[in-house]
Amino acid sequence: KPPIVVRDFAILLGKKPFQLISELMEMGIFASMNQAIEEANAKQIAERHGFTLDIRHRGDDKPEPKKKAKAPREDDPALMEERPPVVCVLGHVDHGKTSLLDQIRNAHVVSGEAGGITQHVGAYQVERKGKKITFLDTPGHAAFSKIRERGANVTDIAILVVAADDGFMPQTDEALKFARNANVEIIVAINKMDAKGANIDRVKQQMQERDLMPEDWGGTTLCTPVSALEGTNINELLELVLLQAEVSELKANPKAVAEGVIVESQVEQGRGPTATVIVQKGTLKVGDALVCGPHYCKVRAMMDEHGKPVKSAPPSTPVRIMGWSGTPVSGAVCTVAKNEKAAKAEAEENAQALKARAAAKPAVTTGATDLDSL
Ligand code: GDP
Ligand code: MG
Repeated sequence: KPPIVVRDFAILLGKKPFQLISELMEMGIFASMNQAIEEANAKQIAERHGFTLDIRHRGDDKPEPKKKAKAPREDDPALMEERPPVVCVLGHVDHGKTSLLDQIRNAHVVSGEAGGITQHVGAYQVERKGKKITFLDTPGHAAFSKIRERGANVTDIAILVVAADDGFMPQTDEALKFARNANVEIIVAINKMDAKGANIDRVKQQMQERDLMPEDWGGTTLCTPVSALEGTNINELLELVLLQAEVSELKANPKAVAEGVIVESQVEQGRGPTATVIVQKGTLKVGDALVCGPHYCKVRAMMDEHGKPVKSAPPSTPVRIMGWSGTPVSGAVCTVAKNEKAAKAEAEENAQALKARAAAKPAVTTGATDLDSL
């Protein structure tokens, strides 16, 4: 079946793209003019406007012209390539999330890099046994849920940190529930193995009680004791991440039209708005034009977490991008448009949709922040 693209669908409904975008927003769907929406949602909208949805290729009723080469589909399995896992770190307060992220960041910078990562930009990449792993640099599920709120699923694996001297605590269970809802794979890092009173078996027992049977007890949940303080077993943990990634067969098409998720954005003095994006499919390149809700960006420069310029970013790569017309919100999806002009037009359409939506709502829920909500 052909994709249902917002712009084309709007024309069929006799509406302006921004009106449809606005209607989709009300349903909690954040799509740009050139994005496709799901059939079930299109059906619902069509019915609301008194239409029945009938999806077919344009000219399906005509005989297929002979030997017409079919354009390859973006999600054709043959075009999929392995991509690094995107990992977040969750767990109870003081169980060592920040220490673990620091330890990984400082000890495992991508080969060829001298020194650590100086600037916090929301995500970083490390290398282990020639394979890359992307870490979300903001621990805890607040940042993670902010991204999820917008519907973006950026994380593949959650490392659940449990202090061996404390065991599962309320926020550990909350994080666990959260990770399960988000459908991400869970690896347990039993931290503080060096601490007095550390009891690794008790944590494993608690894992078992929560249907997270440790692999060495005959289950399927990968786990390892670590010490974020002393740097013990960090490599082992990274190898478990790679193992889990292999089991999950994480793939993306690096030649697709590039798309990514904003993980962090800020206005930097002398630089204007910048945003850290994790590429989800395709390969982002300098010179591309991006749309993200009401904002657009002609990618003038991209940098890695060391502030080093990069020319292209394949799937799962975090890059900081300069040249935005405004500050995109974290969790928002950005897509590559045909050119800067098209990107600007799409962004304006999105801005109009947001305004229309704000105007349709009672005053209490409207406000300046509404314009940022795409
Ligand atoms: P977060 O709240 O989960 O981010 O935890 P932090 O990383 O801030 O760590 C909380 C406290 O636990 C700090 O005082 C750390 O030094 C300490 N800590 C973290 N990891 C370890 C560890 O592996 N062993 C010991 N003994 N202490 C740790
Ligand atoms: Mg912390």
